[in-house]
Amino acid sequence: LKIQNSLDSIFQLYNSSVTFYENWTGIHYPFQKNGMVAVPDFQFGGMEHPGAILLQNNTLFLDKNATQNQLNNRSNLIAHEVAHQWFGDLVTMNWFTDVWMKEVFANYMADKSTGALADKLSYDLKFLTTHFLAAYSVDRTLGSNPIRQKLGNLQDAGMLYGSIIYDKAPIMMRQLELLIGSENFQKGVCDYLKKYEYGNASWPDLIICLKKYSNENLTDWNQVWVNETGRPIINYKIQYKNNTIKNFLIKQHPEYGSKKNIWKQTLDIALYYKDSIVKKQIDLKEAQQETTEFQGHKKPLFVLINASGLCYGVFQIDSSILEHFNLVKDPVQRASCYISLYENMLNHTAITPQKLLHFFSSQLIKETSELNLRLICNYINTIYWEFTTPKERKNISTQLEEKTWFAVNQPLTNNNKKILFECYENIFQSRSAY
Ligand SMILES: [Zn+2]
Repeated sequence: LKIQNSLDSIFQLYNSSVTFYENWTGIHYPFQKNGMVAVPDFQFGGMEHPGAILLQNNTLFLDKNATQNQLNNRSNLIAHEVAHQWFGDLVTMNWFTDVWMKEVFANYMADKSTGALADKLSYDLKFLTTHFLAAYSVDRTLGSNPIRQKLGNLQDAGMLYGSIIYDKAPIMMRQLELLIGSENFQKGVCDYLKKYEYGNASWPDLIICLKKYSNENLTDWNQVWVNETGRPIINYKIQYKNNTIKNFLIKQHPEYGSKKNIWKQTLDIALYYKDSIVKKQIDLKEAQQETTEFQGHKKPLFVLINASGLCYGVFQIDSSILEHFNLVKDPVQRASCYISLYENMLNHTAITPQKLLHFFSSQLIKETSELNLRLICNYINTIYWEFTTPKERKNISTQLEEKTWFAVNQPLTNNNKKILFECYENIFQSRSAY
């Protein structure tokens, strides 16, 4: 039944991926045969053999009640392996130092390809709640690795694959595309594919192709984003005069260490008022920079840094945001805010685990987006079990259980009900819950 229910979608996804990459690269599907092989209990998600792409059957074949996550995973998997036909198979890396390159391109292009089918909002929300969470989980630690790593021995190649390659690299790519402009980015990548087709190339070869279309200092940029680890802490300071903004200062510094790395990237800032939002895009270029974009605007109720969720780092949180959170109608902005709150909690800035748990649990009945609901439920589970003492848990468990159970019993989509019920299963401790 699952197979029957899935075949049409699978072929449609395959076909739309091929069409998308052909159009984007200007290069016809590079091999003589198209084909997919569903593999039961496959140890990988997929493998990009030309003409016989291997795909894990659990991911492929879904029933009618599949969740948004399962559908996303399937479209991502197919788009990823098809992207490899150009990125990895048509042009292959010289050596495993650049193994990440084919993976990031496959992921990045898969996002573009599936994004072409979905609306921009779902694309941005998916990008934010998958890639950023996974990348931060590694890059916030001192044990993180850079995107580009030297590999001495081929037998260790498997060690290179992880969240930095699969998740930080697409974020880096998106910022690279924003930095040089999407048309220039596409031109540079196409030059690279044509120049090295049916051959081998490295990441520096691609940078050379991109430099042709950009005046940016890609060497420095590459050093911080690709050859080193970590993320920036991004703070701001506003000076007001007569209740209007006089100065808006943005600062960044590395989370760890004394280096003066600067992450060049695009940052969206939103000023929230009772009936309106003022949103501007800033190019971060310096350790400290003044933006004139907001000069003369009235003092807002609160400021949301990283409003589009594209920027990488830990962002200062405006403490007034929680009391006005119902004004944040855009699911991407809500997700960005949830993530920032959690990262600040981990860094002991702005909010305590208890307060954040309280806030997330009060969002359970308000959050309508499936991806966001999953995000806060996961956070609740982590904070509850890992960031509160047994004594604190005892104090809050009844209330948290009641809030979650109340949310489960609201009229909801099946998927949201399922997510909330799983959340309840994860946190319940009371006798009555049994
Ligand atoms: Zn891959």
